Order: sequence, then C-alpha cells, then structure tokens
Amino acid sequence: MGGMAANDSGTIVVVEDDPNIADLLDLYLRQAGYRVIQATTGEAGLAAVERERPRMVILDVGLPGSLDGLDVCRSIRAKSDLPVLMLTARDTEIDRILGLELGADDYVTKPFSPREIVARVKAILRRAETPAKATLPELLQAGDVSVDVARREARINGEVIALATREFDLLAFFGGNQGLVLSRQQLLDGVWGVGWYGDERTVDVHVRQLRKKLGDAFPLKTVFGVGYRLN
Ligand code: CA
Repeated sequence: MGGMAANDSGTIVVVEDDPNIADLLDLYLRQAGYRVIQATTGEAGLAAVERERPRMVILDVGLPGSLDGLDVCRSIRAKSDLPVLMLTARDTEIDRILGLELGADDYVTKPFSPREIVARVKAILRRAETPAKATLPELLQAGDVSVDVARREARINGEVIALATREFDLLAFFGGNQGLVLSRQQLLDGVWGVGWYGDERTVDVHVRQLRKKLGDAFPLKTVFGVGYRLN
C-alpha cells in the first residue's frame, strides 16, 4: 500500500495493559483505516470513551487498578449500546462474561491473530450499524415469547424480558425459522454474520443464556449432534 492509512473508518478505543498486544492491535487497526486510542487502565478507558465517542471498544478483561474489563463493560452498557469486543486470557472466562450478562458483543481468547480481530471488528460494526433483517416480519411468536423485531422487544405474558443484543438476534432468527433444524454454522451465519470467525461453541453459550432467561416459554429443542429447532 504505502502512504498513510486513511483513518476514516472511525475511532476504536483499545483498553489493554499489555503494551505488546496493544501496539499490535494499534498497528493492524490503523492499517484497516481506524483511528486508535489506547488506554491501559479501566479508568483511562472509560475516560477515553467519554472523550472520543468511539465507534467501538476493544477491552481486555484483566486490567490493573480498581476497574477490570468486566467493570468497564458494565459501566459502558449502563449508558450506551457502544459495541464492545472483549479479550480474555482464558477460554473459561467467556462463560463468566456471559454469566454476568454484561452485554459484550463478542469475545476473543488470547492468543489471537490480529487479522482475526480486525475481521471481528468489521463484523461487529456491520451488525451493530445494520437495521434488523428486512426479511423478518415485525412481530413473531416464538413459543410463548412474543418478539417485536422492530422495537427489539421480547415479551412473555406481556412482560418485557431483558435480552442482550445477540440473544435477541438469536431469538428472532429462531422465531423466523420455526420448525427447521438449524445447525450451529447456520446460526453463526444467520445471526453473527458470514464474516464471523468464531467457534461454534459460542452458539451454545448464547442458547444457554436464552433458555435461562425465557424458560419453558421458549420451546427450543436440542437436535443431538446437529443443532437446534424451535417448535
Ligand atoms: Ca491484561
């Protein structure tokens, strides 16, 4: 390429205390056209989010100081839908992040390839900034859950159930494909997007969250060895 990166794809705040990882992300994200602001503590990360109004945050779970990545994610979510990609040191942390229902958009386990991060960033931004799928009707019934796709609300007996972005998308996708066996890969393609480079276990953890929140009202069957089917 040569010359300077365009830096016209918007700002990303990278909150990571390991300078090697932060610099590597900085390099690849700049090459992809993003402006990168680095922060090494949770406090500095939150300040950068306030100041820079980024399009997205990449957030390490393990941070020095009084706020770790989970605290920072919670704090961001309390105020906005700003996309958050979390970096975790261990696979087991993913379950913990999901268990806390922080509403992060995606998770990457270290070590990762910087190219993979760039691909995920693009996929998250595309998804976050694309309106709900036009092919879905605005209102769906998924078991005893009524799904208002346009307003992004799920209700059981009239009561709104709080769902994370991805959980809602997954519910709407199941609702729009009732009676069909959906493989994990089909779910990844349909909900996470075809450009998403994740492992299929991600689907299972999100399904688990949905089942936990919706209970018997959501009659999703596990089709052993294949995937899932609603009704
Ligand atoms: Ca760290």
